[in-house]
Amino acid sequence: MKIIYRPDHYRQNPKGVFWQGQLDHYHESPVRAENILRDIEQRGLGEIIEPQLFEQALLERVHREDYLRFLRTVWQRAKPENPEGKDLFPACYVPRGQSAPPPEAVTAQLGYYSFDLSAPITEGTWDAAYASANVALTGQQLLMAGERAVFSLCRPPGHHAGISYCGGFCFLNNAALAAQALRDNGVSRVALLDVDFHHGNGTQDIFYQRSDVLFLSIHGHPDCHYPFFSGHRDERGAGEGHGFTYNYPLYASGSRGELWFEALDSAFGEIKRFKPEVLVVSLGVDTYKNDPVSGFELSTEDYLVIGQKLSALALPTLFVMEGGYNVEAIGENVGNVLAGFSL
Ligand code: ZN
Repeated sequence: MKIIYRPDHYRQNPKGVFWQGQLDHYHESPVRAENILRDIEQRGLGEIIEPQLFEQALLERVHREDYLRFLRTVWQRAKPENPEGKDLFPACYVPRGQSAPPPEAVTAQLGYYSFDLSAPITEGTWDAAYASANVALTGQQLLMAGERAVFSLCRPPGHHAGISYCGGFCFLNNAALAAQALRDNGVSRVALLDVDFHHGNGTQDIFYQRSDVLFLSIHGHPDCHYPFFSGHRDERGAGEGHGFTYNYPLYASGSRGELWFEALDSAFGEIKRFKPEVLVVSLGVDTYKNDPVSGFELSTEDYLVIGQKLSALALPTLFVMEGGYNVEAIGENVGNVLAGFSL
C-alpha cells in the first residue's frame, strides 16, 4: 500500500479551541500525524511518498470560490486588526434562516464561513489545508493508475468542512475532493464510507443531492455528540440524491463494539447494492475506547478486523485520514486498519 504524506501539516498548530466557553486543548495536534507515520514506518506498511501539487482550481469542484479566497487571504487581511498574530475565531454567525451575501469585513467573514469555534485560522492554516487536500488528491490519482489501496495521511482532517464552511478542525474536505476527482477522472460510482466517531456533516452536505456518490456514516448519536445537528437516520439525501445517504447514529458501540460492527455490516449491504467502482474511507479512529473526545468502545484489535472487513469488499480503496485524538494509541490503531486491509 502506498502512503501519501507531506510535513506541511505542522503549519496548522493553534493554541486551542473554544469549548464550553473556555480555551481548550487543541486535540487535532501535529503529533497525531507524526505518530501515525512512525507506526507505518516501523511496521513497513508501505512506501511513503510526497504528494503531487494540484492546481487550486481543482478545489472549486467541491468548494465555493469565495470560501477558498477567504481561507487563502483572511490571515493577511486580518493583520491590521491582529498585530500580535493571535489565532482567528468567529465572533458572530448568520442567524438561522437568514440569507446574507458574502460580507467584506474580516470579522464578519470568520462567522459567515464557519459553523463553530473549533477551526481557528492561523498563519499556516491555508498552507496546511492545501497540502492536506493534495495528499488526498494524489491518493485518488494513484488509485486511477491502478493501485489497489492508498492511505492519504491527511492533516488537518476534512469531513466537517462543507462547500463554504469550516469547523471541527476541518477546512478543505479532503475525502470529498478525492471522490469528486475520481468522478472527474471517469469513475462512475464512488462509495464514501465515514467511520470517524463524528458525523461527516460537511461531506454529507456536499453530496446530499447527488446519486453518483453514496455517502454512509457511522457515528455518535447527534442527540448527545458533536456536531449535534446532523447525522440522524432519516437524513437520506434530497432530490436526485434521495436514497444515497445513509446514517448510522449510535448511542454506544457496545462494550465489545458489537453495535458498531452491526452498523458496519448494514453499511456494507448498501455499498454492495450500490455497486461502486471505488471506495473512499474517511478514516477516523476516535471510536477508540480511550479516545478523549469519543463515546465508543472499540479496541486496538478491532481496527485490525475493520481493515480485514474493508479489504473483503474487494474494491480499489482510498483511506483518507480524519480524526482520532488518543495520541499514544493513534499510530497503532491506524496501522492496524492498514495492516488488516493488507493481510
Ligand atoms: Zn471525529
